[in-house]
Amino acid sequence: MIGEYSQLMKYLPTLFTIVLLFSCSQSPEHKIPVYGWLNGPGMATDKELSNAFTFLKKRGIDGLMYNGGQAPQTYVRVGKIAKNAGLEFYAWIPTLIQGNIQKLGFELYAINGKGESAFENPPYVNYYKFLCPNREEVYKFLAELYGAVADVPHVDGIHLDYIRFPDVILGRGLWDKYGLVMDREYPEYDYCYCEKCINDFKEKTGIDINTVEDPSQIQEWKQFRCDLITRLVNRLAKVVHSKGKKINAAVFPGPGSVATRTVRQEWDKWDLDAVFPMNYNDFYAEGPEWIGEVTKEEAAALGGRFPFYSGLFICPHPERKSREKDPENLGLLPEELATAIRLSMENGATGICLFTPGRMTRGHWEALEKAIYIETEEMLRRENK
Ligand SMILES: [Zn+2]
Repeated sequence: MIGEYSQLMKYLPTLFTIVLLFSCSQSPEHKIPVYGWLNGPGMATDKELSNAFTFLKKRGIDGLMYNGGQAPQTYVRVGKIAKNAGLEFYAWIPTLIQGNIQKLGFELYAINGKGESAFENPPYVNYYKFLCPNREEVYKFLAELYGAVADVPHVDGIHLDYIRFPDVILGRGLWDKYGLVMDREYPEYDYCYCEKCINDFKEKTGIDINTVEDPSQIQEWKQFRCDLITRLVNRLAKVVHSKGKKINAAVFPGPGSVATRTVRQEWDKWDLDAVFPMNYNDFYAEGPEWIGEVTKEEAAALGGRFPFYSGLFICPHPERKSREKDPENLGLLPEELATAIRLSMENGATGICLFTPGRMTRGHWEALEKAIYIETEEMLRRENK
C-alpha cells in the first residue's frame, strides 16, 4: 500500500498537468450537475420517451424529477426507459395538494383563518386543495403512496413538492396577476386553523389562537406550523430511506428570506438527501442577479449538510417576454440563463435544475452547453477536499 502511495505521489505532478489541460477544454469530467423537472408520459410511446430522454442526456441533463401521477406502474415503465438513457430518475409527486376527496375525506383539508376549507374554497387557484399536515391519516396516506413508488426498482428516489402551507404572502411578481396587495398576512390565506391544529397549539403553548386579535404577531404560532411541516418531511424521509431510496424536495427560496416567511418551510432542518430551491426570480419581480444573492443564503443555511440544486425558471417564448405580464410566461432568456448558472455555482449550489427542459428554446440549449462544461472555484474546492 505504501509503495502504491509513493508511486501515486511521483505521478501526481503529471496528473495535475493533465487535469489542468482538460479543464481548459469542454470536458464532461467537469460538468455542472443538471436536473430537469418533467411531466409525462401522456400518450407518448416507449420509443418517443426513449428519443426524448436520449436527447436530454446528450444535452447535459443528468436526471429527471418526473411527474407521472401516483400509479407505481407508470414509474415502472418510464423509469426503465429513463435508466436506459443513462438518466437518474426521481418520482416527482405533489405532497399536500391532493384532490382525491373520496380517499381522504373532507375533514383532512386545511382550514384558513376565516374557517374556510381549502377543499371548498382553495386560495388563489382551483387546484390549491391543501391538506392539513397535522393529521395522522394524511401521513399514512402519503407514507403508503411514496412507499409504493419507492419500491419500484428503477426509481432512484422521491421528489416532494407542495410540501408546505399555501402562500400566506405571494411573491411580489404575482400580486398584479391576482389583484392583491400582500403587505401583511391575511386570514383568508393563512392556514391551518382546523380543530386539531388549534387544540394542539393550545396544549403546547397555552395560547388559544382563536382569541388572539392578530395571529400574525404570534411567533410561536408561526413556529408551530413550520414544525408541523418539518415533522411530516422527516417521517416521510424515514419511510423512503427504509426502502433504500433517496428523498428530496422542491422548496421555496431562502429559507429565511422567502420559504419560512411565506409558506412555513424551514427546509434547512429537514432530513433530506437534497433540496431544489425554486429560485424563480420573475415570481419575485427580480432580475437574474437576485439568484446569486438567494443562492448565497441557501448555501449558508445548509452549511454543506446536504446538496442543493438551484431551480431555474425558463422563459418559453423569449421574443414575447417584454410584452408578458404573467410570471408563469416569464423566466430566464437564453442570455440570462448563463448568468443564472454562473451565479448559482459561484455562490455554492451543487448544480442546477431546469423548469422545464420542455420550455427550452434552441438559444437556451446553446447557452446551457456553453455554461455547464466549466469548472467553478466551488467545484475545484470540493474535488480537492
Ligand atoms: Zn390543521
